[in-house]
Amino acid sequence: MRVFFIGFGQAGGKLVDMFLAQDRKLGSTSFRGIVINTARTDLMGIKNIPMEDRLLIGQTMVKGHGVGTDNVTGAKVAADEIDTIISAIDRRGTHDIDAFVVCAGLGGGTGSGGSPVLCRHLKRIYREPVYAVGVIPAPEEGRLYSLNAARSLSTLVNEADNVIVFDNSAWKNDGESVKSAYERLNEEIVRRFGVLFRAGEVSKYGVGEMVVDSSEIINTLRGGGISSVGYAISEAIPMAKNGGKSSSKKDNNGGLLSGILGKKEKKAEPHVDIASGEDKSAKIIGLVRRAMLGRLTLPCDYSTAERALVLVAGPPSELDRKGVEKSKSWVEENIAGVEVRGGDYPVDSGYVAAVVLLATIGDAPRIRELMELAKEAKEEVVRSRERSHTAMFEDGVDPLFE
Ligand code: GDP
Repeated sequence: MRVFFIGFGQAGGKLVDMFLAQDRKLGSTSFRGIVINTARTDLMGIKNIPMEDRLLIGQTMVKGHGVGTDNVTGAKVAADEIDTIISAIDRRGTHDIDAFVVCAGLGGGTGSGGSPVLCRHLKRIYREPVYAVGVIPAPEEGRLYSLNAARSLSTLVNEADNVIVFDNSAWKNDGESVKSAYERLNEEIVRRFGVLFRAGEVSKYGVGEMVVDSSEIINTLRGGGISSVGYAISEAIPMAKNGGKSSSKKDNNGGLLSGILGKKEKKAEPHVDIASGEDKSAKIIGLVRRAMLGRLTLPCDYSTAERALVLVAGPPSELDRKGVEKSKSWVEENIAGVEVRGGDYPVDSGYVAAVVLLATIGDAPRIRELMELAKEAKEEVVRSRERSHTAMFEDGVDPLFE
């Protein structure tokens, strides 16, 4: 799928920077993008995006200093400068893309306020679907972040064609601060979405036997609302044990695909050493189960998902059609809806990975918690406003004029 990424704000900018770096490393041209910010210093921190594709907005209002976690100002700046933003996108070229993906941290100011505004205008102007990848804050980041994220997300679900959520709190380790985990979290985001959005791309093996093209991703996300992504990885069977058909354990192809699927997690199941069809099929089913039942980008009740997409990526010798079909049936039995799409994506790698996209989720405890926290924060603001008014200027003194 050819994706036009827009990184809005600091988190969004860093993510798009990494998506484009991954694309460049793979020698691919599937991804392109620009980054937008109200803070000049954040734009200077970007590494892989040419200066002409970094857009500073709101200069008259905030003079390049950012909007300071105020997402109402973030939304206003984006609305005021929407023509400049659309021109920058057009300049980068949109004629051959399949979708827009707007990335942002929803707890801050610029991306939180700006991304719903941008999604609205992109949908108005272009025919291609507009998705958002929204990062939600951990509760420890403070109530202002939760309030911002709740307001942004509630708006975004109405403006984007689908919002794929990544929850910072579900991904940081105990005792680790969110900030110190950013790099690791971003790698997780870029790996999962990188594999998902690349489905259907032609590799040196051609396209997959059961190719997942962009229309399947688009149809899976068609229901709107929020979605979550699961991922699991396992080592491929070494070449000698697989009749010489599989690639070596290390990514070859000049390291072109090195790292795209990531390394095997510590607790991953031991790899199966026998290459019979049954075992390959069982391995794929096991991998897909682990992807769906393991850590999702947004922890949620998968049984409430309306649609799903199953993608198995790895060396062609490991991509077993029966295994993919059985995995799809298993996913279908476990989600609310009946639409499960899926297929394979041959890549030159020493690993096999499964990506499960759970689309249009009906229930996610973290989202409910976020909305609750935001409601409390809002009530607290109103109460404190009332308190300060009533306490100091209650009765007795007549104002100069009414
Ligand atoms: P903006 O620049 O005003 O749009 O604000 P940010 O992008 O810094 O958004 C703040 C939110 O994004 C907070 O919840 C941060 O924890 C989160 N955030 C900031 N940078 C990163 C990052 O690199 N990775 C992740 N996962 N979250 C980030």
